Amino acid sequence: MKILLSLLLLCTSLAWAQPVPPTPFENGKFLTLPDSRDIGRYLAELDALSPKARLVSLGTSAGGRPIEALLMSESPVFLREYAAETDKPTVMIFGSQHGNEPSSAEAIQQLARELVAGEHPALLSRLNLVLVSMANPDGRDLSTRHNANDDNTNIDYVALNAGETRLLVDALHTFDPDVVYDAHESGIWKRVLTREQGWMTDVEAQFDMGNNPNIDGPLRAYTEQRLLPALIERVSDAGLAAVRYRGEITDINQSVARGGLGITNLRNYAAMQGRVSILVENRLDNKDGSYPTPRNIAERVRKQHLSILTMLELVADESERLVSLSRRARQQWQSGTEDGRILWMGVSFDVNRDEPEVTLPLVRFADGHQQQHRFRNHDAIVTREPVRLADAYAVIRERQRMADWLARHHIVFETVREPRELVAERLVIEQLLPQPKARPGVREKVQARVRVEEQSVTLQAGDLLVPMDQSLAPLAALMLDPRSANGLYQESEWRWLQPGEFPVFPVRLP
Ligand SMILES: [Zn+2]
Repeated sequence: MKILLSLLLLCTSLAWAQPVPPTPFENGKFLTLPDSRDIGRYLAELDALSPKARLVSLGTSAGGRPIEALLMSESPVFLREYAAETDKPTVMIFGSQHGNEPSSAEAIQQLARELVAGEHPALLSRLNLVLVSMANPDGRDLSTRHNANDDNTNIDYVALNAGETRLLVDALHTFDPDVVYDAHESGIWKRVLTREQGWMTDVEAQFDMGNNPNIDGPLRAYTEQRLLPALIERVSDAGLAAVRYRGEITDINQSVARGGLGITNLRNYAAMQGRVSILVENRLDNKDGSYPTPRNIAERVRKQHLSILTMLELVADESERLVSLSRRARQQWQSGTEDGRILWMGVSFDVNRDEPEVTLPLVRFADGHQQQHRFRNHDAIVTREPVRLADAYAVIRERQRMADWLARHHIVFETVREPRELVAERLVIEQLLPQPKARPGVREKVQARVRVEEQSVTLQAGDLLVPMDQSLAPLAALMLDPRSANGLYQESEWRWLQPGEFPVFPVRLP
């Protein structure tokens, strides 16, 4: 059917004047959100209409709904085999990971429609696209933040508990994008800030990028100093007031920072893999306002579309530098430190001494009056506990469960076949300290005080060895090492931290 249609298109000189049907949302005059089935049907229609589009199944949600990616490319090899092209960034866009933030799913379909109709021709000649318009179709249909199983995939990237997160991680592995774009919306009405204190936030579009200090040094410097400011400037120039993401403001007396440093979210997880990783949070208008469409949805979709389009144009303009930096980072990670092999096991925010306060606009709930407010600025990133990347990590507890978890992350490991003696840095937990000053909304973490003992150990058959000469090494080390603020053992199903010798530790390979 698709071949027939493609032939038909080729036979007419009108190929790109072919009328492309509106998205289900446009068709419904922006009044109702289509359900996941209607969206899936529409994406299949685009696939059938255009030789430059291919709809690929990524798997099924907890509630049994398909999760799909629409590939858009001028390269048949990319569409067929997902093969990266030397001069073209692969950009992967995740829409509506939170089901109650629906506007990006609509904006992505609209963009796909335009590309199929031949609009923005420069984009497809310079980029390969992987469009996941609904990362959480259960949430879309149930109007919930989480999936049908009540998993919040957004913070599941270390544990990989949810099937959705697992298949999205598989998709990162399959399509190996240079750029990951995670689209969200942020409500301006907050329980404490609005109901108790009388203020709403007043932000249109906020952006952040991967900000964990362990991201490949040159890649992080480039995204921090060049790409993020350029994106904010371009989106603002296009008429949407964009700012750097300051974290969620829920209380007028809180301090502000940036997007979290942890790797449980897609943004830092993907960046730790060596990808340019961008978060957008566009304004989710208040329920009580009066708008031309329900809860201003048409306008919200317009803003998401503008944000995505502007990001794609910027990535296309930056493609040469961006591709070389991100692909080199995926080949050979180097830390931001001098010798290039140091990981920071502890990372947190602290007072920015150069800029101890920032001024941000709030809107008075009662009358809409806008006023600037000063907030303590805690966006300085503090690093603790430098650890040199080991040759490998050994795992000697719950080995099958660990092997399954490593495989889900596509981390390479080896199962020891016969007893093997190695020099190890046994990690001995002396004491557990709760994270000081855990803030609301920030997951409480346990910090382990660890003594390192060099010992000769004999690994037994069935033990695991995770070599650190692989591209996912820094990500693997941050999740495996008990000294890490982002370790697997912070997750509720993996509470392994307790005083004594820890069953996962660095080893030297001969
Ligand atoms: Zn969200």
